[in-house]
Amino acid sequence: MEKIQTDCALCINCCGLDCYVEDGKLVKVEGTPEHWLNKGALCAKAKFLVEGTYSPNRLKYPMKKVNGKFERVSWDQALDEIAAKLKELKEKYGAHTLATWTGSVGVEHFEMAAFNQRFAKAYGSPNFFNPEGICFRTRILARQITFGRYPVEQPRNAKLIILWGHNPDASYFVIANDIRERVRKNELELIVIDVRKIPLAKEGIYLQPRPGTDAAIALAMMNVIINEGLYDKEFVDNWCTGFDKLTEHVKKLTPEWAEEVSGVPAPEIKRIARMFANVKEASILEGVGHLNQYQNGLQNERCFNILMAITGKIDRPGGWVTCPQIRLADLRVPIEEKNLGYDEYPVFHQFNKRTPPYGSASMMTEAMITGKPYPIKAFFSSGSNPALTFPDTGRFLDGLKQLELFVSIDPYMTETSELADYALPACTFLEETGIGGFPYAISHCVPYIILRKKVIEPLYESRPIWSIWSELGRRLGYGDLFPWKTDEEVAEHMFSTSGVTYQQLVDHPEGLYFGEIEYELFKRVGFATASGKVELYSAEMERLGAPGLPSHVEPEQSYRANPEIAKKYPETLLTGARHQEFIGAQMKDVSGLMALLPEPHAMIHPVTAKKYDIIEGELMGVETPRGMIKIKANVTEDIRPGAVSIPHGWAAANVNILLDSRVRDKVSGYITMRGNACRLVKLDPSR
Ligand code: SF4
Repeated sequence: MEKIQTDCALCINCCGLDCYVEDGKLVKVEGTPEHWLNKGALCAKAKFLVEGTYSPNRLKYPMKKVNGKFERVSWDQALDEIAAKLKELKEKYGAHTLATWTGSVGVEHFEMAAFNQRFAKAYGSPNFFNPEGICFRTRILARQITFGRYPVEQPRNAKLIILWGHNPDASYFVIANDIRERVRKNELELIVIDVRKIPLAKEGIYLQPRPGTDAAIALAMMNVIINEGLYDKEFVDNWCTGFDKLTEHVKKLTPEWAEEVSGVPAPEIKRIARMFANVKEASILEGVGHLNQYQNGLQNERCFNILMAITGKIDRPGGWVTCPQIRLADLRVPIEEKNLGYDEYPVFHQFNKRTPPYGSASMMTEAMITGKPYPIKAFFSSGSNPALTFPDTGRFLDGLKQLELFVSIDPYMTETSELADYALPACTFLEETGIGGFPYAISHCVPYIILRKKVIEPLYESRPIWSIWSELGRRLGYGDLFPWKTDEEVAEHMFSTSGVTYQQLVDHPEGLYFGEIEYELFKRVGFATASGKVELYSAEMERLGAPGLPSHVEPEQSYRANPEIAKKYPETLLTGARHQEFIGAQMKDVSGLMALLPEPHAMIHPVTAKKYDIIEGELMGVETPRGMIKIKANVTEDIRPGAVSIPHGWAAANVNILLDSRVRDKVSGYITMRGNACRLVKLDPSR
């Protein structure tokens, strides 16, 4: 039995894997004991990688829909026909009629996003989209606005952590284990701020805000820290601008005001503000996307930036630290035409002339449906299942109906592939060589890289996604932009600009450290903002039409902002809760995982349940102005009364049906996925 060391691309953690292969077949997967991150441990998902890889739901061959049914076709036929259709559509509607969507933002699977984007731009379309257009990017953007760069959390060196809307037991199990262990050894203080009482909440101080009021708490913390002189005077005086404006801004935003807004007692806000200010090695640690997806998402992030800055925790151990990042080859093709959302969301698309490589995803379905600003008639989804995971499913499906070409590229026959004109089989990450561990510097503050090695040959007729885009590119006459023939050639090219060679990574299958963290980096290079300092107040944001200082903004469907809607829909919907067993819509075909978590539940508090006469395990309706789903109730004290938390990615209870893609963060354009109005419906069991 051969052992191949690689890394796991199922999620952003990229844990080390030892894969065992016999007669060309994957037979066992274990965590790599010597891997610095997971040290031999695996989450539930990776333990079932063998079953997932050989799932009967694998898409085996290229499929074409004929008279509503899929028929097997050859790769040549599928690619020739798709290329011909793309040529036709370009002539008819212009190149921008193509939109490509990828499930990876380019960290856990770098090539998937890079080639997707390269193809769209080679075709001449600006319309490349990925989940960063609805998730996470505002976190990066806010830090670029404030610091001019992207300092990241360094929890392993922290002596105090605020888990703010973050449940690492579900999404970062290694960090959760580390936090639990160190809290119990009295090496770490923990504060949890979350509408849901997550498992780690019992290890520290727990605050349970009303959904969508996190900025109010953060602003009140600033009020306390400034009023009581607890800020880092030396850092603020020398390295921050806008402190006077901030002081004035938060003067009236007292803990008592925040208590009224958030429901969190003022003495608790004062207490955590003092604790946080008094520990230098402290980090605010947020969930992936969680607080970005409230209506005040971008400004929530700005609040956290400011809290970290005025207490002197930037570029300091245990705080937010600038980690060296590897510079992989840039596969982007320059294009003049602007992203969708460029004019509507200028902060997101134009801040400091840094245009993100993708458009505002909230605009994508609108262009499909309305044809404005131009019709999107060709849509490619790769490595993703947006029919289930894109917010506002109804509108997304309405958009698909307007298409003249819809192609899904995925290892599995997903709900999205089922709807496509062509379903093309991609191989899984275990069947190709590529860039591994690229996100370590971003998500774990460790400058480390590893080669993701092919473990088995591609199953059936599946191909690496990069090669599918390349084949299509050649057929459309862009062969010079897609010269690579093998995984190894692609990887070699990607690493060619990085300072680490492909061969070095082959020689070091365990991976390599490529840099060292420089604490207090700002003393040598300052901050890459217009002022060269931390910009607590941002004049550039104001120039682009958004407030230069963050405020609390009520979710537009809350009872405070919209009492009318609250009469009919008095509860508050939170979507996107995670479980360790699954990631998004993936792996629901794995029986071992389904045995662990057979169905989704909506978390509701006993007070909420009583109001609707609903008991534990009862099938109930959850309704919003957009529609209703049926889901079983999990009645628990571990959630705030009035809040309804539903995981996403379940076909039988697709929570994205309940969202409205026109309810957005006014600054970033993100679709609001948390804090919307809903109600419960007692179902008639006889029907
Ligand atoms: S946490 Fe993510 S990267 Fe680590 S083993 Fe689980 S799925 Fe793979």
